[in-house]
Amino acid sequence: ELPITVKEFAEEIGEAPNNLIVELMNMGVMANVNQSLDEDTLELLAEEIGVQIKFKTEEEEETLMRVGPEIEDKEEDLEVRPPIVTVMGHVDHGKTTLLDVIRKSRVAGSEAGGITQHIGAYQAKVNEKLITFIDTPGHEAFTAMRARGAQLTDIAILVVAADDGIMPQTEEAINHAKAAGIPIIVAINKIDKANAQPERVKQELTEYGLVPEDWGGNTICVNVSALQEQNIDELLEMIILVSEMEELKANPNRLADGVVIEAELDKGRGPVATILVKNGTLKIGDPILAGLTSGRVRAMFNEFGESLDKAGPSSAVEVLGFNEVPAAGDFVQSLEDERQARDVASDRQDERRQSELKSDAKVSLDDLYNQI
Ligand code: GDP
Ligand code: MG
Repeated sequence: ELPITVKEFAEEIGEAPNNLIVELMNMGVMANVNQSLDEDTLELLAEEIGVQIKFKTEEEEETLMRVGPEIEDKEEDLEVRPPIVTVMGHVDHGKTTLLDVIRKSRVAGSEAGGITQHIGAYQAKVNEKLITFIDTPGHEAFTAMRARGAQLTDIAILVVAADDGIMPQTEEAINHAKAAGIPIIVAINKIDKANAQPERVKQELTEYGLVPEDWGGNTICVNVSALQEQNIDELLEMIILVSEMEELKANPNRLADGVVIEAELDKGRGPVATILVKNGTLKIGDPILAGLTSGRVRAMFNEFGESLDKAGPSSAVEVLGFNEVPAAGDFVQSLEDERQARDVASDRQDERRQSELKSDAKVSLDDLYNQI
């Protein structure tokens, strides 16, 4: 990823910075550790010291934002984790109603008094197994996050009203889920209605390559009524079934990676962000980096307002301790070193400013041409 300094490159390839400086001198390049290397110099240097390098395209840079090398987990370190589920579908087909009924009746800690605050996600419990629901229906959040390369969800629940059938946003949702390569479970909703036509919905689904199981395909469809709470358990059990087939796993014993699903500036508490932990465990005191901002985890709360000292894979927690408000969709990473987190955040801010300057300059040049 460019620009890269001598020091960063040395870290990246596990070489002493001084050795690189010597190599560079031999190549006739006088450099210090903080000097940025251009593409050509890097290429020559890499050849000189015999390492393979590959430049990321701009697109890859946008998406691959993890600092440092990607840590591959060993198979034996992986443990089963709950699925992360998004509810999608056309407006008024019942997404909010479905999320509400599950939140009210199936919440993991309902014995403790139910959810007390909205943090953008919650966990439901089905036969002692957890499902993490992203609590913001619609595809906007989903697309924004995917555009940033954050693969947020494992399973999409496609809500289709049985009295209305597949509509434009249903089609969009299908496309999003397909592009993300995640399984789709169809909740054919509003089957309580007199004019419900679940079979017609199934017919329409086949036109999108989603062939229902009872039609010989492998798309799971469940007839539900969110309003009358019919078949909700069946739907939840299907989610568990699919998640088991997907073999969703994570390594709880490492520094956390995740995604910001909501963030705001709270008058009393400062920047507050809900983070969905995708891998590892986030702990109090962890240095943390998200997009253009960094900090240290000062406090964490779950959807019951309970204070936590750690949050494992597939859990969503409200995190206090960022220096500034991160953006929804930002990739989150906890690091060993708070200073590194701060440096990366400030580098990214510089880059952002630079590219803004560039686009400003372009605009004014265009303006100039327009005037003559
Ligand atoms: P969203 O736009 O997809 O979030 O849809 P909502 O959850 O807001 O629901 C739209 C309307 O459909 C509301 O008036 C709901 O009460 C109604 N609705 C949702 N689910 C059902 C259902 O299972 N049966 C019936 N009859 N109405 C439903
Ligand atoms: Mg809604």
